Amino acid sequence: MRKMMLCVFIFLSVMLLTTLCLAKEGTKMIENIKWLGHDTFFIKGQKSVITDPFKIMGDYKADVILITHEHYDHCVPEDVKKVQKKDSIIVTTADCAKKLSGEIKIVKPGDKITVHGIEVEVVPAYNTNKKFHPKDTGWVGFIFKVDGKRIYIAGDTDYIPEMKTFKDVDIALLPVSGTYVMTADEAVKAALDIKPKVAIPMHYGAIVGSEDDAKRFADALKGKVEVIILKQEK
Ligand code: ZN
Ligand code: ZN
Repeated sequence: MRKMMLCVFIFLSVMLLTTLCLAKEGTKMIENIKWLGHDTFFIKGQKSVITDPFKIMGDYKADVILITHEHYDHCVPEDVKKVQKKDSIIVTTADCAKKLSGEIKIVKPGDKITVHGIEVEVVPAYNTNKKFHPKDTGWVGFIFKVDGKRIYIAGDTDYIPEMKTFKDVDIALLPVSGTYVMTADEAVKAALDIKPKVAIPMHYGAIVGSEDDAKRFADALKGKVEVIILKQEK
């Protein structure tokens, strides 16, 4: 009896340690990522990257600026200026590029480029059950690599079949608000297809959607994909 109790104890301890280690791994993986609200993430690596700069308050100068499409909450000339350095490179769609100045690489889905040593794959982003982001606009999401980690920022998209083809995504930044993009429930399907090591919900709390959407997303993925809800920083 004693032996059995001991075995059960050891088994439970190992399980607990494994869970703790895995949770730590996810936290460690995202330690260089700051969420500045909506779709704005600042990722600090050997080179720094910012995505869709919007309502920038602090000092977030970036080497690479990725912008998914020209909507007013993603492509914002005054916010781009705040994060731009002399040698920053902007990677964006043709319609957003028209509003900006500086060094700009115009991209469309399917493109692959490397800027300041950061590999960037350009992937499609579009609506399937609403009209705000038609596929033929050529708006985009990005899979980019910072310090060996592959990060996917989805942009304004619904759950689309291309997501099944995304390979080796470590961190997926997925919209969850519904209305203009996928709902939390649709984002769950996206996360299950993409199978990232960590998923982070976004595109809520600014224009549409609330933290409830982020929580619904996290709850539905419990035990399947690790979800980390980031605190918005300034
Ligand atoms: Zn949009
Ligand atoms: Zn949007």
